[in-house]
Amino acid sequence: MGTMMSCECGWTMISPMGEKDVKKHAMMHVADAHPGMKVTDADMMKMMKTV
Ligand SMILES: [Zn+2]
Repeated sequence: MGTMMSCECGWTMISPMGEKDVKKHAMMHVADAHPGMKVTDADMMKMMKTV
C-alpha cells in the first residue's frame, strides 16, 4: 500500500512512506518542472490517492 500522486503533466509517483513523503517529492517536481506554479496543500490532497 502506498500513496500515489499524479500531476496534470503526466508525472506520477508512488511512495510507500505516506503523504508527507509524497508532498516532499511533489514540491520538488513542481519546483523543477513547473516553476512559478502555485500548489496549495488542498491541491496536493486532490492529486493524491491511496493505492
Ligand atoms: Zn507536473
